[in-house]
Amino acid sequence: SKSRRKGSHAVFDVTMHARAVSRLQIETELRRAVERDEFEVHYQPIVDLPTGKVHAFEALVRWRHPERGLVQPDDFLPIAEETGLILPIGQRMLDEVCRRVAAWQRDIGRPDLSVSLNISNRQFWHGGLVDDVARSLHDSGLTARSLSLEITEGVIMHNVGLARKLLKDLHGLGCRLHIDDFGTGYSSLEALHRLPIDALKIDRSFVSGLGVDPRSGELVRTIVLMGRNLGLDLIGEGIENAEQREHLLRLDCTYGQGYLLSRPVPAEPAAALVTRRH
Ligand code: C2E
Ligand code: CA
Ligand code: CA
Ligand code: CA
Repeated sequence: SKSRRKGSHAVFDVTMHARAVSRLQIETELRRAVERDEFEVHYQPIVDLPTGKVHAFEALVRWRHPERGLVQPDDFLPIAEETGLILPIGQRMLDEVCRRVAAWQRDIGRPDLSVSLNISNRQFWHGGLVDDVARSLHDSGLTARSLSLEITEGVIMHNVGLARKLLKDLHGLGCRLHIDDFGTGYSSLEALHRLPIDALKIDRSFVSGLGVDPRSGELVRTIVLMGRNLGLDLIGEGIENAEQREHLLRLDCTYGQGYLLSRPVPAEPAAALVTRRH
């Protein structure tokens, strides 16, 4: 693997060695965590900006470590991805999220509520995704259009031709497809419009520049116009203040997500947010 290759060039580098040990430790603990099912789902609302109503949730994985407490994705997903442990973790997320949202739709009386799930490179390309999604939908009774899959440009651009087939299959199930972190990759308009995409999530780096850097405003305006022309929904990510929200509204970005509206929260408080207005 890449890390082993790096390690062999730095056998005497104490820092590297320490890092390698902790990596191995995390991997060992991660395997145990999969066996013991130490993962939980937090939900961050995706809000309809004009009305303030919760439109959907993004599901975000958390690791409830027995000693270290709640571990954030950035601290274990890269290792999960490299080792393939993302597959059982992702499967668990998929099952849990489908069951939970099907229950919310019934209990809260919001059959239109949907949920977004992140799909990593390995999950997208491992060859079983379409079947896994179909099975989870079937077992939970969740309608496919209530499940959105978030995929980054980078994952798709790996092999656009093959990706198109896979995306078509997922879309064929009825799932919605969102391009995550949009604007950070290099995908061309041409490549995008031939894919069955439903929404663009405008990356936080652009949203955070709104009101500060005029170029951010221009970029967001361009992305919204382009998305509209393709008939896509637009979701602004990482809204941290009212000014950013106002900017997005003015630029005709309909949906938004960010700490201003709500941080990601466990299932119970998330359900309570649906009945409240922002
Ligand atoms: P992402 O998909 O871009 O998710 C958005 C990240 O931004 C989340 O971090 C969220 O908590 C954070 N965020 C939301 N609003 C704000 C804001 O206003 N300000 C700032 N500074 N941050 C905000 P999180 O939960 O730590 O997840 C990090 C990344 O890990 C995600 O980025 C996604 O790529 C990945 N990830 C998370 N959960 C899963 C999962 O279940 N499966 C897979 N494959 N990847 C996941
Ligand atoms: Ca995402
Ligand atoms: Ca994102
Ligand atoms: Ca991201």
